[in-house]
Amino acid sequence: MFANIIIDITHEKLDKIFQYRIPPSLEETLSVGMEVLVPFGRGNRLTKGYVVGFSETSSYDLSKIKEIQGISRKGIAIEGKLVALAAWMKENYGGTMIQALKTVLPIKQQQNAKVKKKVRLLLSESEGQKKLDFYLEKNQRARARLLAALLDDPILDYELVSRKLNITRSVIRALEEQGIVSLEEERIFRNPVHGEIRKRKEIVFTGEQRNAIDTFWRDYGTGRYGTYLIHGVTGSGKTEVYIEMIRRAVEQGRQAVMLIPEIALTFQTVMRFYRCFGERVSIMHSRLSAGERYDQMMRAKEGQIDVMIGPRSALFTPFPSLGLIVIDEEHENTYKSEQVPRYHARETAIARAEMEQASVVLGSATPSLEAMYRARKGEYRLLELKSRSGQQEMAQVYTVDLREELKNGNRSILSRLLWEKLAERLDKKEQIMLFLNRRGYAGFLSCRECGYVVKCPHCDVSLSFHKNGKMICHYCGYEEERKPICPECGSRHIGEFKVGTQQIEEIVKREFPEARVLRMDLDTTREKDGHEKILAAFANEEADILIGTQMIVKGHDFPNVTLVGILAADMSLYANDYRAGERTFQLLTQAAGRAGRGKKKGEAVIQTYSPEHYAIVTAAAQDYEAFYQEEIRYRELMGYPPVQNLLAVLVSCEDEKYLEKGCHFLKEYAQRIRRYCTMELIGPASPGISKINDVYRKVLYLKAERYDTLRKAKNQLEQYIEINRGFDVMRIQFDFNPMQVI
Ligand code: ADP
Ligand code: ZN
Ligand code: ZN
Repeated sequence: MFANIIIDITHEKLDKIFQYRIPPSLEETLSVGMEVLVPFGRGNRLTKGYVVGFSETSSYDLSKIKEIQGISRKGIAIEGKLVALAAWMKENYGGTMIQALKTVLPIKQQQNAKVKKKVRLLLSESEGQKKLDFYLEKNQRARARLLAALLDDPILDYELVSRKLNITRSVIRALEEQGIVSLEEERIFRNPVHGEIRKRKEIVFTGEQRNAIDTFWRDYGTGRYGTYLIHGVTGSGKTEVYIEMIRRAVEQGRQAVMLIPEIALTFQTVMRFYRCFGERVSIMHSRLSAGERYDQMMRAKEGQIDVMIGPRSALFTPFPSLGLIVIDEEHENTYKSEQVPRYHARETAIARAEMEQASVVLGSATPSLEAMYRARKGEYRLLELKSRSGQQEMAQVYTVDLREELKNGNRSILSRLLWEKLAERLDKKEQIMLFLNRRGYAGFLSCRECGYVVKCPHCDVSLSFHKNGKMICHYCGYEEERKPICPECGSRHIGEFKVGTQQIEEIVKREFPEARVLRMDLDTTREKDGHEKILAAFANEEADILIGTQMIVKGHDFPNVTLVGILAADMSLYANDYRAGERTFQLLTQAAGRAGRGKKKGEAVIQTYSPEHYAIVTAAAQDYEAFYQEEIRYRELMGYPPVQNLLAVLVSCEDEKYLEKGCHFLKEYAQRIRRYCTMELIGPASPGISKINDVYRKVLYLKAERYDTLRKAKNQLEQYIEINRGFDVMRIQFDFNPMQVI
């Protein structure tokens, strides 16, 4: 028997299996996923590696096969099932196997165990009694005290023995040597989840909730596993539905992973789950200490918990019988990893679920185009929650045309309507959120008179400013000169769209000097907990107005907020990538959802130069269906995901000349691959950031209808890169269906 081993060195050239002999001493113990030490290379340096499988035969020269030295003492074994998942990730997202293995094993080293020491009596009661009499007779007080206590209770905490009974270590040692007591250690796991068990609110499910649960259960209860998409407006009770589904899976002896988009939202979710599952819930995220994280992993492995809550990486929790993975707010960008392997949690969850006979439940008020597209094609089962569980109504949304404001002589960033509503709320002592959606913003050129935006004629995305004064497309590399006047209406009011939170704060303070204003952006949240402090101050009504970027829209409920102003919807609408419309719709819908969470009805004002754009019209109407229909038509027309698939090949190099050459050869090779499949090549172009730390970057896009075509193309490109030494000076990364322009 030979062990197949992946060496723990990230290098494309070493990204293959190495075979080693198994010494007799390890024949019984060695298993897939274990970390071992092996002699490697010419110098036979001891190197770490992971066992990924076994073979009976070897194609190498048998006399040259080396032997495994041993199992690493501090290492952690990867579950066999997760080794298989890592292989799937490597195949589908690129990168090396060792990178994939490290992704599924978020904690690399054993951590010191926290232990509780105990003292145990080893004598029978009559023997003990005899000994006690002896000690009393000899006036050995301390020994007598300990023995008397142990005769009452044969196992005592060491803490108690030393503190309460005042017994020193040497006394215990003396009794230990005589075989009267033993000192034992019991491992205890750190538990980051605490709370008072408050009684869970009794809930009578609405008809829609019941329907969703029943549909799921008819499958799950009879062993049919699959993927479900819950499309439910905010406040429709999705979380209650997740809890019920998980409860039933747990009743069947299975465990569940509950993914949330970011750590900031953990606390609220954990408390709701805690009320239902108590100590059998845990969390896993990067703010826990290494020891805490290690213990959560061990608790999961040993079956001490049923539910793990956390961001993306919690997906790799080593449960013995994972039965359900829930992904809340599945449309969020944070589910895509920005490190190699650039996996998406949604697809990876589905792959893991298939390997383990589990189900996946996705949920969102604004499902991603991907998820809804798959649901419509029948790959996922769609479950809808159309109404709010309580009595609140959705906010009333107004759209303001900023071109009209300009025509009427108002050059301020506050439209008259928004100004009036602000004044009115301040008067009534209600709170206001002003929101600037900068996400994805990349300096586009637009006309303030007619709303015209300069776009790429080939890709239908906005062109971005470049340092050289040109406007360029980040997909195909198309460039044009900056336009001095609007080609649509001849106005000179064409320029870069620039507005920042600080500037808004100044304007608001000038217009409403008596208002108390808080600002939340990268500048004001730099210090530790800066984020939480601002939100807490606003929640305590220490301010009337909160100004911020997309950071302020997520998750938090402020019952006294009755007005939300979206200052320039265009900023995200004209980001330079094909997801701009989708992101805008999601942000606007979420932002509008912040208004009127309490008893008072809410209003939202969307300011824009493009009031007729479908993303804005449909967000104002809070009409997901209409948005989806328009957006999918655009994706179909332009061949963007989810209708087609896109593979970004990101090439970086310190030498600009080499980079150009490398891209040229890659494109040429891709053209050769194209002869055997249907695939489109776009670029190479300069990405959003074309140079980082003196390293130049370029990106080449491959587009194909089938993901599989791209997967194969990636494998071929990887091989081509490996055998051509010229690429040694370059870094090449793959990104399937990237979330934004890299
Ligand atoms: P979502 O996750 O869709 O935003 P939640 O599950 O957080 O919705 O529900 C919003 C609020 O309504 C929560 O306070 C929740 O406890 C409550 N709720 C949900 N379903 C019901 C129900 N059937 N009856 C009473 N309250 C409910
Ligand atoms: Zn114009
Ligand atoms: Zn283009």
